[in-house]
Amino acid sequence: TAMYEAKRSGRAQVVLFDNGIHERAVRQFQIEAALQLALERGEIGVHFQPIVDSDSGRTAGFEALARWTHADLGPIPPVEFIRAATESGRIGQLTQLVLRAACRAFVPHLCAHGQPYLAVNVSVSDIYADEFSTRLVEILAAEGVPPDRLVLEVTEDMLLGDVHAVTQALARLRDQGVRIAIDDFGTGYASMGYLSNYMVNIIKIDRSFVRNILTNGSDQKIVRAVVSMAADLELAVVTEGVETAEQAALLRQLGCVLLQGYAYGRPRPPEEWAVDGRLEALSA
Ligand code: C2E
Ligand code: MG
Ligand code: MG
Ligand code: MG
Repeated sequence: TAMYEAKRSGRAQVVLFDNGIHERAVRQFQIEAALQLALERGEIGVHFQPIVDSDSGRTAGFEALARWTHADLGPIPPVEFIRAATESGRIGQLTQLVLRAACRAFVPHLCAHGQPYLAVNVSVSDIYADEFSTRLVEILAAEGVPPDRLVLEVTEDMLLGDVHAVTQALARLRDQGVRIAIDDFGTGYASMGYLSNYMVNIIKIDRSFVRNILTNGSDQKIVRAVVSMAADLELAVVTEGVETAEQAALLRQLGCVLLQGYAYGRPRPPEEWAVDGRLEALSA
């Protein structure tokens, strides 16, 4: 940490300058600049991660996760470039690119046994943007994906705004025939009032409840309670972050059927997933 004398409004002030903060600001700036080009050139793609029906072993759906590798900066984590896109006002553009790429890659899976769905993550500003549902319908039609095969994942904190506005935004999307999942459920502060099946269709239990599930009794109770509540409300439950067979077995005992996580497959390029959801090249 270096100390600088800074002049502000005519008076000398001592400013603490943290080099870590400086480096992060430079990186953020680089990423924002590079992102603009990548969006223009369509250089952001998706990986698919399966959501598995643990009763049948079939792939119930694929979640599309945005991926970007920059020529000089290397692979950039989605949380980082999504933040950059949000702060530079380009999240709408990013979402459209991801939606289009995800739909295009999903088409070969449309006639797969069990009719898997496609889940795409969207941001809070997307769901409030007036033109979003129109664009969404255009993309689905252009790529040939029926709306009822699409699930939009929204995080709980997106539901924090004014109840009326949130209800309207979700209703507009639901009216197009797509389904809504609450992502990272249990980590936000959204009102339970959103958990009606008029509003959402799927609850995704956050992986923080899974990490220590084998030893943490209260995590087990929470998962059991969420499963029971979801059943009463006629909502589906997906549990994310399942990394081991032991976690999967316990989650199944607790009533979780749809499971997602490294135990079933990491996010991989869409073409590596065969239409039955198995890895195209298991030996590779
Ligand atoms: P998310 O939607 O909750 O996605 C799950 C994240 O957990 C992904 O990280 C995935 O790679 C990771 N994951 C999956 N299974 C496991 C597991 O078993 N163990 C562990 N430790 N992690 C697992 P990723 O791809 O880095 O994405 C992070 C977050 O970035 C996503 O969390 C989502 O909130 C956001 N994101 C990703 N793609 C997009 C996008 O296209 N649009 C928007 N708005 N957000 C996106
Ligand atoms: Mg998600
Ligand atoms: Mg999630
Ligand atoms: Mg998550």
